Amino acid sequence: MRILVVEDEAKVARALKEGLEGEHYDVVVAQTGEEGFFRINAEVFDVVVLDLMLPGRDGIEVLTTVRNRGLQTPVLILTAKDAVEDRVLGLDTGADDYLVKPFAFPELLARIRALLRRGRTDQVLRLKAGDLEMDLVTRRVMRGNQPLDLTAREFELLEYLLRHQNQLVSREMLTREVWKEPSRATPLDNVIDVHITRLRKKVDQDFHIKLIHTVRGVGFILREGEP
Ligand code: CA
Repeated sequence: MRILVVEDEAKVARALKEGLEGEHYDVVVAQTGEEGFFRINAEVFDVVVLDLMLPGRDGIEVLTTVRNRGLQTPVLILTAKDAVEDRVLGLDTGADDYLVKPFAFPELLARIRALLRRGRTDQVLRLKAGDLEMDLVTRRVMRGNQPLDLTAREFELLEYLLRHQNQLVSREMLTREVWKEPSRATPLDNVIDVHITRLRKKVDQDFHIKLIHTVRGVGFILREGEP
């Protein structure tokens, strides 16, 4: 597996190269956007780790250009702490994932592995609705800058709602897909309602814009604004 690391900070680049080589990846480092761009076009990589803050041609420019040319290689961008706009911009521009500096090396490895796996199945690694973001690699859920502490069931429930956002989700769908009970004599409606109430408290209580809505007589819908 070949990885291209585009990073101008020599110390960071060296640490990435050594760490990734320790995991038996074949690593090429480019220290400028120009060089990164040149390498991406001239060689074949399985993953590109692209720093956004580069002198000259920056990461977004590199990414936009290579995506416009139809390059499909998974790209993980590195962005400065709390630069939310960068992250959104990166994902809109065609990045597959991002990591905020400073990051823990094991998380970088987990993300690279997920991208390599995804290369084959086209699975998403993050789900988003408004300022709510679910990370399927680390299983972290954030609303704005606030982490949400969810139980395993709440996480699954929210994941299902996010995957079906802007669609009506019935209690029957949740029974079948989240609770995995295809045929049940006693409906789970009350159990589902209790979980939805708890989940909604965590996701929406402290925020002006509500995301989880009840549609009377039908079920639920996750969307920004009124259903
Ligand atoms: Ca940099």
